[in-house]
Amino acid sequence: MKNHAQVAVIGGGVVGASVLYHLTKIGWKDVLLIERAELTSGSTWHAAGGMHTVNGDPNVAKLQQYTIELYQEIERISGQSCGVHITGGIMLAGTRERLDWLKMAKARGRYLNMDLEIISVDEAAKMFPLMDKAHFVGAMYDPIEGHVDPYGVTHAYAKSAQIGGAEIVRKTRVTDLKSRPDGTWDVITDQGNVHAEHVVNAAGLWAREVGRMVGLELPILAMEHQYLITGDMAELAGKKEQLHCIDFEGEIYLRQERGGMLMGTYERAGVPWSPVTTPWDFGQDLLPNDLDRIAPSLAVGFEHFPALGQAGIKKVVNGPFTFAPDGNPLVGPVKGLKNFWVACGVMAGFSQGGGVGLALSRWMAEGDPGADIWGMDVARYGDWTTLAYTKAKVRENYSRRFRIRFPNEELPAGRPLRTTPIYERLVAQHAVFGDYCTLEHPLWFAPSAADAKDMVSFRRSNSHPHVGAECRAVQGGAGIVEISNYGKFDVRGPGAAEWLSRVMANRAPAVGRIALTPMLNERGKLIGDFTMCRVSQDHFFLVGTYAAEAYYLRWFERHLPPHGVLVRPCAMEYTGLSVAGPKSRALLQTLVRDDLSSAAFPFLSFRRMEVGMVPGYVGRVSFTGDLGYEIWVTTDYQRALYDSLVKAGRDFGLKLFGGRALNAMRVEKSFGTWAREYRPIYGPFEAGLGRFVDFKKGDFIGREAAALEKEHGGALRLRSFRVAATDADAIGDEPIWHDGVTVGWVTSGAFGHRVGESLALGYVPASLASADGGFEIEIIGERRKATPLSAAAFDPSGALMRA
Ligand SMILES: Cc1cc2nc3c(=O)[nH]c(=O)nc-3n(C[C@H](O)[C@H](O)[C@H](O)COP(=O)(O)OP(=O)(O)OC[C@H]3O[C@@H](n4cnc5c(N)ncnc54)[C@H](O)[C@@H]3O)c2cc1C
Repeated sequence: MKNHAQVAVIGGGVVGASVLYHLTKIGWKDVLLIERAELTSGSTWHAAGGMHTVNGDPNVAKLQQYTIELYQEIERISGQSCGVHITGGIMLAGTRERLDWLKMAKARGRYLNMDLEIISVDEAAKMFPLMDKAHFVGAMYDPIEGHVDPYGVTHAYAKSAQIGGAEIVRKTRVTDLKSRPDGTWDVITDQGNVHAEHVVNAAGLWAREVGRMVGLELPILAMEHQYLITGDMAELAGKKEQLHCIDFEGEIYLRQERGGMLMGTYERAGVPWSPVTTPWDFGQDLLPNDLDRIAPSLAVGFEHFPALGQAGIKKVVNGPFTFAPDGNPLVGPVKGLKNFWVACGVMAGFSQGGGVGLALSRWMAEGDPGADIWGMDVARYGDWTTLAYTKAKVRENYSRRFRIRFPNEELPAGRPLRTTPIYERLVAQHAVFGDYCTLEHPLWFAPSAADAKDMVSFRRSNSHPHVGAECRAVQGGAGIVEISNYGKFDVRGPGAAEWLSRVMANRAPAVGRIALTPMLNERGKLIGDFTMCRVSQDHFFLVGTYAAEAYYLRWFERHLPPHGVLVRPCAMEYTGLSVAGPKSRALLQTLVRDDLSSAAFPFLSFRRMEVGMVPGYVGRVSFTGDLGYEIWVTTDYQRALYDSLVKAGRDFGLKLFGGRALNAMRVEKSFGTWAREYRPIYGPFEAGLGRFVDFKKGDFIGREAAALEKEHGGALRLRSFRVAATDADAIGDEPIWHDGVTVGWVTSGAFGHRVGESLALGYVPASLASADGGFEIEIIGERRKATPLSAAAFDPSGALMRA
């Protein structure tokens, strides 16, 4: 083994091999893969090898498409067969809701150029004769599904990488990692040490242990997974290979394996494997079978596919593989650790391994993954993912793998975990809570405890009228909403203003003022949006998205000067309440000595104030788009603040509102939000944030690219629509049609209760930036007329919020 390398990739499963190949493909030749045993010695070797393009996150779906298309390339380079069988796949719906879900997946597939088709039960039975039609109501067909040989794929990547200059060492275990002051690494192995500039943790089943070598507790857990292979079946003899099949309600998947069928299940009573530490002596081993555990699924399988029940079981495989709490991979650099990268938690290595390798290699070589991979970025998890929390969520995710997640469905595992001081008060007001990064936050308020429950649905649900009442209360008087779940950063020091001016696209505000600002990467794409509040000359309070805290910190860290600026995340130190609506000023004025008149405290002002007995920051902004204030106080004061606002609010008809009403109101104002309208695939002018990019202030990250975008107008345009919807509103990811062709996608949708219309925001090609007709939005399989709006649906001039 060489003693120096540019990159040391730890782990020779399908993911490590793909990362290695992609590094050589991008031109990095001095790369080394270190494998503890033989290649595929983790979860890779006993995988069922299934692959598919469908994924709930369209950006992850694109990387899955890429992975499947890659197999031809690595077979050609390496001469190693990947054993690719593209059989096509069928997804069976046993209920109307499932069929709706499939129609939505098909609709999403349209703008990803996926060739999905909704078919009848009869058509499905012709394609997949093993099914008993009685249990199903419809299906979706995907021509690009199939399976590969896990050994073949891993070796094809590995050989292609070696041809590209990489070195692979086997039977060598990494036992420790030591960082040097210059950010490079000493990789300690049982066969000697390597000095590497970069380290990639692709250790699969042992990724947690490798993470611990550098003080990192990765939110992943292995689950036992079983599949069985039947004896040879007469029904298959002499026939074309059977399609892949997912029976959602049966919670099973099927494919042909030689003369029999392979049937696997994600059972509800899933069992974690090695929940705390993974044994190093586990290799190409299997776990003992536990057919009793999957018996309920098998019984359903044999009922839905009767021939399988007659075929007998030839073999059972029980093997572990890892999951993150949401089931998507963990990829990217880790905040606080220089030159340390992860590519782990990959639960579908044969659909996703290629995409993970591509994204990571670009990130390492070019400083950017080159695609929107927020859905699998390791930074989507913060320090709140404890071992026990991860366990609860992974088990929940595993057991729900084939279940529908409704847009208004909040999952129960691990809750309530974090609560703010007013939690009990909100419970007493019949709040229905959502879970945001483990923090409970109120979504809406029910009229009684008995009603405080979401009835899950793709359509307008039981919360609809109550959310409507909340929005109208804000419009007609005053509302109060908890906003503690926003991200917050305290930025201070003599260099703070200069630094913010460099990392943010807008100018740092004057003392006592607020500036809204996008944050751009070097390619001029959106990687954040912030409310920058200036407390004093050298002190700023930033408000952004809490879920992206680790993502932002990683970026800040990369661009911080050695001295003069201190950035501290303080999301949970400050809790927040916002009062909004035309009476909010009069209400708040009863509690503060400062003059709140527009002349003295105009829109976008920010100041330390005493609200009753409570010291805090007050900013004159509101995501509702109405007159409003955001009040931030240290957590110990939140209850007193809430009580005094509620008491003072009695004279003003103050009503509690929740996150759903806030979302509906921001959609009425065409206000975008991170991870929906603002993502790293859009530029600020495309997203309608051009007015917040200040080219006059001097240099800033992304300036050149943003200037080019301004000059050429960008490729896309965010537009607002009024939708002729009936009982279901857009929720996001629906296709936008123009003159009968899919041209874009919805990013957010809601019923705008203040304007009485169904609304949507979404991206269309720039050439349609001012088209005023011919649009439709597809909602649950129905194309609805969509009328583009030239200004926000609510208060288009912005007069109310500035009043
Ligand atoms: C029963 C079963 C069925 C499955 N079916 C499918 C399927 O149909 N389709 C699909 O896409 N996926 C399937 N999977 C999941 C798939 O196996 C994983 O997504 C994939 O194997 C993950 O690969 P990996 O490279 O991340 O991890 P692993 O395969 O676990 O590889 C990690 C490697 O790192 C090495 N390593 C770890 N620590 C060190 C160290 N300290 N030093 C040196 N080397 C180290 C290990 O020896 C191992 O070889 C299935 C899994 C199981 C168990």
